[in-house]
Amino acid sequence: MPKLAENLPEFAISAFDMEKTYPGQKGLPPKQALKGISLNIPRGSIFGLLGPNGAGKSTLINIFAGLVRKTGGRGEIWGVDIDKNPRQARAAIGVVPQEINIDPFFTPVESLEFQAGFYGVPKRERRSMEILRAMGLEDKAKAYVRTLSGGMKRRLLIAKALVHSPPVLVLDEPTAGVDIELRRQLWNYVRELNANGVTIVLTTHYLEEAQELCDTIAIINHGEVVACEAKDSLIKRLDQKTLVIQPQKELKEVPAALSGLDATLHADGSLVIRYSTAKQGVGGLIEQVRSCGIKIDDLQTKEPGLEEVFIELTGNKSGK
Ligand code: ADP
Ligand code: MG
Repeated sequence: MPKLAENLPEFAISAFDMEKTYPGQKGLPPKQALKGISLNIPRGSIFGLLGPNGAGKSTLINIFAGLVRKTGGRGEIWGVDIDKNPRQARAAIGVVPQEINIDPFFTPVESLEFQAGFYGVPKRERRSMEILRAMGLEDKAKAYVRTLSGGMKRRLLIAKALVHSPPVLVLDEPTAGVDIELRRQLWNYVRELNANGVTIVLTTHYLEEAQELCDTIAIINHGEVVACEAKDSLIKRLDQKTLVIQPQKELKEVPAALSGLDATLHADGSLVIRYSTAKQGVGGLIEQVRSCGIKIDDLQTKEPGLEEVFIELTGNKSGK
């Protein structure tokens, strides 16, 4: 076995009981943003850090990025303690911050070269143009930053995070405010990086993004981890299913006889019933619907999605 492979860590990032309390400002009390976060991000995964606004996602990311000072606990990047060997630890990650902060006086290619210098990447090993090309910014390499669209600036931030070829790429809300076409492009690029061995960590409040892209997911809420496991097993945790019935005749309201069920009428005319597979069989539900005089045109059952799990664990409807 090659020597390097033996030294690869099991986890790309680990947090041990990590805490952060922001000091109170302008008469406000101190804010405990992280209340002892412990989690392991498996090497090679596309890991989703999911949680409602204010959950503490950016705080956690920014501690690993070296932008926020933690007030308790420990952290490792690529098996290296972030306090004992900060430079070595930081060399292993590239972080794309949530806020767009690009120096307006540098062109994209200068910006990348500067970043490479900052990380001590030797000139012959730099690949600024290659990275710009991969991010679809080749023809903007020498443009004024103020002429770049919001989407281009976001891609430039990703490019900057990649200059030192880190094995871990962390993206904080990469697709917030990004149009669907560009979001697709970014997802594809993220998948490609991951296929080439880069561990991806992304925070998002778009549940469908986490569901489509991530293989492992942590949900954090009020500074605490409420779930951290493989996406599939997370979704399987819920024994909830949904029955969607298309009635032959349009219903004006959910019949009173069905008021004991979690039934709602949707705008497209379908009657949607959420049920627990442990408590109810679909046959019995259909009987109940029929006994109200509803003739069924069509029906289907649906597995729960991440959205249902998320609401169950955080009591928060988000992502839409
Ligand atoms: P998320 O990224 O999940 O939306 P944040 O990590 O940005 O959450 O914020 C977590 C909590 O910490 C929020 O209540 C937020 O208001 C607070 N917070 C974040 N940054 C600061 C700061 N610099 N000073 C004081 N409070 C902050
Ligand atoms: Mg955030």
